[in-house]
Amino acid sequence: AKGRGRGATVVFSEDFAARQERKAILGQALKGAVGNGELSVVFQPIVDAVTQEPEAYEVLLRWTNPVLGRISAEEFIPMAEETGLIVEIGAFAIDAAFSRFSRWPQRKESCRIALNASIQQLIAPGYVETLRAAARRYGIAPKAIVIEVTESIFADAYMDLTQNVLFRLQDLGIDIHIDDFGTGFSSLSRLHEMPVQAIKIDQSFVRRMDPQAVAIIEGSVSIAEKFGIATVAEGVETQAQAAQLRAMRVTYMQGYLFGRPEIAPTLTPATETAAAP
Ligand code: C2E
Ligand code: CA
Ligand code: CA
Ligand code: CA
Repeated sequence: AKGRGRGATVVFSEDFAARQERKAILGQALKGAVGNGELSVVFQPIVDAVTQEPEAYEVLLRWTNPVLGRISAEEFIPMAEETGLIVEIGAFAIDAAFSRFSRWPQRKESCRIALNASIQQLIAPGYVETLRAAARRYGIAPKAIVIEVTESIFADAYMDLTQNVLFRLQDLGIDIHIDDFGTGFSSLSRLHEMPVQAIKIDQSFVRRMDPQAVAIIEGSVSIAEKFGIATVAEGVETQAQAAQLRAMRVTYMQGYLFGRPEIAPTLTPATETAAAP
């Protein structure tokens, strides 16, 4: 709300009404998005901090509606989570991503695919089976799959159920990475209770890079090292950020510097970046 002082309440309630209306319209349109073929997936590389070679590609959903245009994931994912549509949408993402990934030319054997999973997906019946069946259908080895979950899973009422699902994924050989690390709470005390192979340091810290943000990044790396797990820094846009993160011993990096989310990612984006004078 931009309004201040007199009239601010009116501005606020108009904003509020407009937001509610947009939400209702998007919510309605989202119900038909999968069936109407409006959703797609893009891939963004995650590179080794030292070699800058792609280690994995993260799958990100995109939604383009013929009337409403492009709607950002920041806007429609929370909506899909609230309505439960995320389960259907998530299943679409798994299928679309594996299908594409299995057909990439010259894909390196060690290259992995990272999928985001909301807690609503994890606790929905059949999540592990859906993932497993899709992996089998497209000939993708479980060890080539990474599941990214936010640290909200630690605070959630469904902690036991979530923990059970994560251990089943681990038993299959699938890795778990904690997304947006440092933005939630109660994560540190419970990190050891979950089968986690890496933490993704939230891009807000990389962007700020002020003394406090540096302290949080260093702290995260130190915790990860003590737990014997890896770190991924997100939102890396400049060579300066990359150099600083490398000095802080971050394991992997991801961001526009190395590659934007794309339909058909170039297989060596980082090498081109690194080769630039
Ligand atoms: P996230 O998992 O933290 O994904 C990172 C977001 O940062 C993505 O936004 C990505 O496009 C963006 N990003 C990557 N590198 C940079 C950079 O260098 N600079 C900047 N400014 N941004 C960068 P996106 O695609 O809009 O996704 C937003 C969020 O929506 C994701 O955050 C994730 O929480 C959720 N999401 C996206 N796809 C899926 C999905 O398939 N399933 C689920 N459950 N959630 C998804
Ligand atoms: Ca993610
Ligand atoms: Ca993130
Ligand atoms: Ca996020």
